[in-house]
Amino acid sequence: MNREPSKHTMQRELEFPQYPYRPLPREAGAEEECGLFGIYGNADAATHTALGLHSLQHRGQDSAGIVAYDGEQFHSHRALGLVGDNFGSPDIMDRLEGNVAIGHVRYSTSGESVLRNVQPLFAEFKFGGLAVAHNGNLTNAHTLRHELVQRGCIFQSTSDSENIIHLVAISEYGQVVDKLTDALDQIEGAYSLVAMTQKKLIGLRDPYGVRPLVLGRLSNSHILTSETCALDIIGAEFVRDVEPGEIVVIDDKGLHSLKPFRKRPERFCIFEYIYFARPDSVMEGKNVYAVRKAIGAALARESYIDADLVVPVPDSGVPAAIGYAAQAGLPFEFGIVRNHYVGRTFIEPTDQIRHLGVRLKHNANAAHLSGKRVVLVDDSIVRGTTSIKIVEMLRTAGASEVHMRISSPPNTHSCFYGIDTPKRQELLAAQMDVSGMAKHIGVDSLSFISIDGLYQAVCGASRDGDTPQYCDACLSGEYPIPLTDREHEPAPTLLTLLDESN
Ligand code: AMP
Repeated sequence: MNREPSKHTMQRELEFPQYPYRPLPREAGAEEECGLFGIYGNADAATHTALGLHSLQHRGQDSAGIVAYDGEQFHSHRALGLVGDNFGSPDIMDRLEGNVAIGHVRYSTSGESVLRNVQPLFAEFKFGGLAVAHNGNLTNAHTLRHELVQRGCIFQSTSDSENIIHLVAISEYGQVVDKLTDALDQIEGAYSLVAMTQKKLIGLRDPYGVRPLVLGRLSNSHILTSETCALDIIGAEFVRDVEPGEIVVIDDKGLHSLKPFRKRPERFCIFEYIYFARPDSVMEGKNVYAVRKAIGAALARESYIDADLVVPVPDSGVPAAIGYAAQAGLPFEFGIVRNHYVGRTFIEPTDQIRHLGVRLKHNANAAHLSGKRVVLVDDSIVRGTTSIKIVEMLRTAGASEVHMRISSPPNTHSCFYGIDTPKRQELLAAQMDVSGMAKHIGVDSLSFISIDGLYQAVCGASRDGDTPQYCDACLSGEYPIPLTDREHEPAPTLLTLLDESN
């Protein structure tokens, strides 16, 4: 899956800016699946940041970066690869001196990820340096980028976040927080952000609160991070979630909160609960593991089937399978064992490698499967690649029946708000109905949790039709935040089709 713009597309954009603007493909530079960490007032700021990023590694394995400020100078290290591989050496950590630091882990959308896109981004302004790290996806990034290029801004990366830097640079407001607010007022999308200047650590969430950000404390140090598991790793206490539309500013006078944006209905991403967040994290007051178990129990109530075993697709299917097994009164077994030394299957760029990746990652625990009727639980079916391979594995290991249960409703729509999902035409649930999917995957039966069952398990109430309590666009197709770039995207021409086929 190569989702960077092709060289040809980029060249055309640079050499022949046209109007009306043809935006880069949506995937170009999209910031997705990222993890954020920032700390203020700690002598080991960079080390704590590296540890925090290590616990957020599941949010992005492609690159990692830290920027620290020592009172006089900014120091940064940004690299492709895992946190442990890049921030394990004393030489690097010793260089990242300072009491304030921010860091970022990123899932890049391309096999050809480039260092210039690795965050935090950093720029020098009239008021001094500003480093920015961002999780989410800006839905008007390409439209804005075009306007900024027309105004003379010179972009250095394909990262959406660079828009923020340029908007700050041209803002006519005086104070950095006002400049940032002014910049964000022009931005649409789902984002959480941590930023730092010489004097401040700043954290904020978009007005819908789609992506997470929490506040923590370690003695006198303040922390901002994507998930509470990053607080646990350094022994910090959880203070509270940053609220949707809230800007938190931390400086030598303490912590201040601002709410400058128009209030919007809250739409925290429901997929964080289903799949994305680490199960030991607490999001919006709910432990993710407990939520996943409750979804599994609801799934068993909705689609019980007589069987011998409940087997999870590890790791992400485990909590839901535990909940399912307890509710159904069936034994839970690790019928599939996962090799933890292989990255997520999605990281592999081509179909061929993805197929190979699944075999590298999972193996059937045959001794427990022979002659057994198995309920196989996973959190989601995206393309169906994982399910096909795992079902085949169970059958080869002797399972007599395989009944698949999925702890999310069918994933019918792409996410444009920061979770990496393929184009709609690649989503299995967009192609066929449940019985077609069952046949395609090769199971004896297939059931997904209903959307109301999901909502009941997550928040104890049915989905409110008009203003659902969460963003569930990937499951419902109802996108709460305008998709400006997509609306401006013209129908594909022969040229764009050729680009896409490259
Ligand atoms: P697929 O093989 O394409 O059907 O993908 C489904 C598997 O990928 C499931 O086991 C999920 O746990 C996992 N998954 C779901 N969403 C994502 C995502 N956005 N990124 C990476 N993996 C995912």
